[in-house]
Amino acid sequence: MEDCLFCKIAHGSVPAYTVYSDDHVLAFLDIAPRAPGHTMVIPRVHAEDLAALPPGEIEPVFLAVQKVLRQLMASLNPAGVTIGVNQGSISGQTVPHLHIHLIPRFEGDGGGSVHSVVNNPPVEDLETMRQKIAFK
Ligand code: 5GP
Ligand code: ZN
Repeated sequence: MEDCLFCKIAHGSVPAYTVYSDDHVLAFLDIAPRAPGHTMVIPRVHAEDLAALPPGEIEPVFLAVQKVLRQLMASLNPAGVTIGVNQGSISGQTVPHLHIHLIPRFEGDGGGSVHSVVNNPPVEDLETMRQKIAFK
């Protein structure tokens, strides 16, 4: 994708602070880090989001997420790590190329849990919801 910023980073035409790289995946520091060590993992292939990622890329991408997670834990010794994907602009996605955020968490960092990003509980009960979603 010619106009995709993260494709350009994956192909090396836009520089980045890379911490991990292999044939399928690149991991680099977020340019506007929300915490020390805020890193993103991206597939080299262009996929707008997780739903669009070719299934064969799932394994290398998430193996790299685990590798980078372990490396962040070993190098920065955070108290925890928030791992997340903003999918769709309403969710906060600003770059339309899949990226998994790894945000190291430290005592007193002022952050919340994944639950804190939305508070919109369903009116339906859980069985109604299950029936809507479940594979038939
Ligand atoms: P999103 O909001 O789409 O989940 O996350 C996009 C992230 O990409 C943001 O956290 C933003 O700081 C980061 N970002 C945007 N442009 C660049 C860039 O040119 N280089 C790097 N390393 N990160 C970027
Ligand atoms: Zn792309």
